[in-house]
Amino acid sequence: MSAKQIELPSAIGVRDLAQKMGISPIDAIKKLMSNGVMASINQTIDFDTAAIVAAEFGFDAVPEKQEVEEKKEVGEVPLWRQKIAGEKEADLLPRPPVVTILGHVDHGKTSLLDAIRKTNVAAGEAGGITQHIGAYQVEREGRLITFLDTPGHAAFTAMRARGAQGADIVVLVVAADDGVMPQTREAIAHAKAARVPIIVALNKIDKPNANPDRVKNQLAELELVPDEWGGNTIVVPVSAKQKMGIDDLLASILLVADSSDIRANPNGKVIGSVIEAELDKAKGVVATLLVQNGTLKNGQVVVAGTAYGRLKAMFDYRGKPVAKAGPSMPVSVLGLSDVPAAGDLFEVVENERTAREIVLKRQEAQKAQVASAKMSLEDLFARFKSGEVKELRLIIKADVQGSLEPIIKEINELGKNSQEIAIKILYAETGNIGENDVMLASASKAILIGFNVQAEVSARRLAEAEGVSIRLYDIIYRLTEDIEKALKGMLQPEFVEKRIGKAHVLAVFPISKVGKVAGCRVVEGEARRNSKVRLFRGGDIVYEGEVASLKHEKEDVREVRAGMECGVGLKNFHDIVVGDILEFYTLEKTG
Ligand code: GDP
Repeated sequence: MSAKQIELPSAIGVRDLAQKMGISPIDAIKKLMSNGVMASINQTIDFDTAAIVAAEFGFDAVPEKQEVEEKKEVGEVPLWRQKIAGEKEADLLPRPPVVTILGHVDHGKTSLLDAIRKTNVAAGEAGGITQHIGAYQVEREGRLITFLDTPGHAAFTAMRARGAQGADIVVLVVAADDGVMPQTREAIAHAKAARVPIIVALNKIDKPNANPDRVKNQLAELELVPDEWGGNTIVVPVSAKQKMGIDDLLASILLVADSSDIRANPNGKVIGSVIEAELDKAKGVVATLLVQNGTLKNGQVVVAGTAYGRLKAMFDYRGKPVAKAGPSMPVSVLGLSDVPAAGDLFEVVENERTAREIVLKRQEAQKAQVASAKMSLEDLFARFKSGEVKELRLIIKADVQGSLEPIIKEINELGKNSQEIAIKILYAETGNIGENDVMLASASKAILIGFNVQAEVSARRLAEAEGVSIRLYDIIYRLTEDIEKALKGMLQPEFVEKRIGKAHVLAVFPISKVGKVAGCRVVEGEARRNSKVRLFRGGDIVYEGEVASLKHEKEDVREVRAGMECGVGLKNFHDIVVGDILEFYTLEKTG
C-alpha cells in the first residue's frame, strides 16, 4: 500500500502539521519527542523534521509547490478590533502605533526600553521625569509612538489570550552575540499568530563577539528575511548600552506603521486594554489603560474584566493629570472597584448600574469555569485512590518567584509525609498557564496548579479537549489543603449523595398511559418527588434514576413521610415487582 501524499512547506508549526494530518497535536509532539525533538505546539519545525513525523503517521511528505501569491494570513482578529468593527471607514483616523518589545531573556529588552525612553521621551519637557505605568510614549519628528513597557512574553501572551492584543508592531530583540534562542522563536510564533509585523533590533552590536551575519542567517531560516537580502524584515543594528541606532529603530517603526492599517475612531465607542493594575494602599486601585478606540474621559464609568468604577482621576505616563485620552494613549486611572487583570478589555458604559450587571454576569461565568475544572480533577484523584496512579504529578505556575518557593516547600513537605503516593513537581515557574503547560500536563498526566495566575483562554480550551485538570488558587493554604486531602484520598467530590428515605414496594398497579406505579410504604425518612431513586431487588441495584410521580391518596404530593403509604412512578422504568425496595437520595454540592 502506498503512503498518502502530503504537501508541506519549508517550515511548519506543529499545530498546523497535526491539523494537516488530521491527528491531535499531542500525538505529533509525542512523536517529535520520541525522535529527540522537544517542540511545543506553537513551535515551527523544518520540512525534514516534519517529513519524519509525517512518515510515522503513514504520510509521504513532498515539498509544497511555491505559491506565487502571498498566502492568506490566518491569525486572530483581536477582540477589540471585532468590537469596533462597526466603525465607519470614514471615521477612522491614523493613531500612534503601539509597540511591544519581545525577545530572549538577557538579550536587552529592558535596556532597549530604557534607552528609547531616555533618548526621546518628553522632548522639550523640563525634567522629563517619567513614572512607571507600564507604557510610555515617545515623539519623533512630531509623531508619537506608544511603547508597552512590560517586556516579556507573559504580558503579551496574557493580552493575546484575552483577545486584547495591545501591540501593532513587535520589536524583536536579538542579541548579536547570542543569536536566535528558544524565546526568540516563541516570540516570532506569537507575533505571527497575532498577525503583528516584526522589526528586528539586532542588539549588542558593540560587543566584540557580535556576529550580525550569523543572526541574519538564523532569522532568514525562520522566514524573517532581512530587507538588505531582499526580504521584508527590517533589521536595525542597535546598542542599547551605548544608545546607538535608537533613532533608526524609531524611524523603522514609523515606516512599518505607515504601511499598516493603524487607525481608530477618536469619536467612537471607547474601548481598550488593561496594561497593568495594582492595589495601592493610599490611592486604591491604580490601573494603566491603553485606549484603542474612542476617547476616554475622566469621570466616565469603565468596566474592565470584572472590575468597574467611575474614573476619579487620570494621569499620563509623566504623572501629569489629564482630562481625556485618545487612541493609543496610555493613562493611569483611579476609581476602579477591583484590580483588573493585565490584558482585560475595558469599555466605557453608561452608568454604574449597567457596569454592575455586566460584572455580575462575568463573575458567574468564571465560577462555572472553575467548577468544571474541579470536577475533572476529582476524577484524577479517584484514579490514584483506586491504585491506578501511584504518583501525583504537578505543574505549578505562580505569579512571582516569591510565591513559588513556599508552595514548593509545603508540597514537598506533604510528599514526605505521605505513605502511599509520591508527589512529583515536574516544573514550577512564574507566569500564566499556557498551552505549553497543558501539553506537558497531558503528555505526562500531570495536574496543573495555578497560584494567583490565570489560565489563558487557549490553554483552557486545550485542557478541556485533553481532559487536563487546571486548579487555580489564591490562597496557599487552600492549595496545600487540597493536595493533602487528595493524598489521603479524602478530597470530596463536588457532589455528595445524601440518602433521604427508603420505601418497600407492597403492590404494583398498571396505569394506562403511565405504565406501572409502585404502591409503597415509606419505612425510613421520606420519599420525595424531586429526588433521585434507586431500586433494589434482592440486594442488587436494578434501576437508578428519577422519581416520575409521587401520589398520596390520589393527590400529587411533594413528599411522603415514614409510616405513610404512597404511589411512586419511576422515570422510564416499569419493571417493578412486589418486594422491591426503593431508596431515595439527592445529590448535594459540597463546600
Ligand atoms: P532582558 O532580559 O532582555 O530585559 O535584558 P536586559 O536589558 O536586562 O539586558 C541583559 C544584559 O545585557 C544586561 O547586563 C545589560 O547591561 C546587557 N546589555 C543590554 N543591551 C546591551 C548592549 O547593547 N550592549 C552590551 N554590551 N550589553 C547590553
